Amino acid sequence: MTSDPSDLELIRKSVAELAGKFDLEYWRHKDANHEYPWEFVNAFAKAGWLGAMVPEEYGGLGLGLVESAIMLHEVGLSGAGMSGASALHFYIFPPGPIIRHGSEEMKNKYLPLLAKGELLTAFGVTEPTAGVDTSRITTRAVKSEGGWVVNGQKVWISNAQNAKRILLLARTSPRNDEKPLDGMTLFFTDLNRERITVTEIDKLGRAAIDSNELFIDNLEVRDDEVVGEVGKGFYYLLDGLNPERIVVAMEQVGLGRAALEQAVKYAKTRVVFDRPIGKNQAVAHPLADSWIRLQAAEQIAMKAAQLYDDKLPCGPEANAAKFLGSEAGFQACDRAMQTLGGYSYAKEYYVERFWRESRLLKVAPISQEMVLNFISTKVLDLPKSY
Ligand SMILES: Cc1cc2nc3c(=O)[nH]c(=O)nc-3n(C[C@H](O)[C@H](O)[C@H](O)COP(=O)(O)OP(=O)(O)OC[C@H]3O[C@@H](n4cnc5c(N)ncnc54)[C@H](O)[C@@H]3O)c2cc1C
Repeated sequence: MTSDPSDLELIRKSVAELAGKFDLEYWRHKDANHEYPWEFVNAFAKAGWLGAMVPEEYGGLGLGLVESAIMLHEVGLSGAGMSGASALHFYIFPPGPIIRHGSEEMKNKYLPLLAKGELLTAFGVTEPTAGVDTSRITTRAVKSEGGWVVNGQKVWISNAQNAKRILLLARTSPRNDEKPLDGMTLFFTDLNRERITVTEIDKLGRAAIDSNELFIDNLEVRDDEVVGEVGKGFYYLLDGLNPERIVVAMEQVGLGRAALEQAVKYAKTRVVFDRPIGKNQAVAHPLADSWIRLQAAEQIAMKAAQLYDDKLPCGPEANAAKFLGSEAGFQACDRAMQTLGGYSYAKEYYVERFWRESRLLKVAPISQEMVLNFISTKVLDLPKSY
């Protein structure tokens, strides 16, 4: 399915206009005060964008990944950076397993609420002792009458300060070395604060979107809150990894371009040694080099998005996009810092927030090393190192 270029242009323009209503001062304030950007999220909900990938029969827009990638690129580019992109991202991507594998009842009940922005969810996979090896999670769900009882611990769970529900991955049978990814189940359940203790983590950047440690103590979950089949939860998550990688690449390209815009503006107007600093090639060339790298990252990300929408394999392209987008975006932010010199450290010049936020993409949602592991084994057919 190839999207109509005029529709894409319309999406680009509408999202840029809406995101542009929230200026850099808004995001500086949200970041400094660790405040969730409700005004921004509500504006996007009102315009229908949160249901971008929810099928129309469940109240969404039923758009493809190409459209969603463009949308989140524009959010990054507006200066909202990861504070804004993550806020929207959590309505659009984590519900993927529900769309693809949830029961009709689950879809009818929750997808319309997600699409309208009336249900903030958290995504609970990562655990302190397992790290990037998800097969070693120790949160366990034990069968009870009509449901399950869950105990365990999660870390880095975004949104949990305000989320009403959580997509939670737990072991329902012990790890088997032969098939380490079997035996994990995905639940979509209330984030019941009587059974889940949520503690916010004080972190480097993206403070507007909280990250948390969760202690789960005898949480009761109903049978009808299991997403898809028991024991297959990890595979349901895998389905959603490529689209997420493609979109975060585009978020980061947008953020890198926002930083580049600030750097170029500064390089043209800051006069030192009787000339604008941008007249020095040592200042101009890194910015030109970043422009090129951001273009390249965008090209591969959009190619991957199109492959995904065409239902073609896109693993190598999606991983390459995530890698290049993260590198190019962070480098552009870092170079913007260098261009602004001492003033880069002043919050009123904004690029320091971009730089802090762009660092995140090197480690989440998947680290650069794990992308290289994927390419080494799945594309180059090298022996598995992990
Ligand atoms: C701000 C933020 C928000 C997040 N939000 C969520 C969320 O909402 N939900 C959620 O479930 N998770 C979330 N995460 C978790 C994230 O997706 C990562 O899974 C997590 O940060 C992994 O970190 P770790 O330190 O445990 O990794 P570790 O496994 O301890 O790895 C540490 C480093 O070693 C490298 N490494 C480990 N093994 C290998 C190997 N075999 N080969 C090469 N390199 C290797 C890793 O790439 C990494 O760089 C978030 C993380 C952050 C920082």
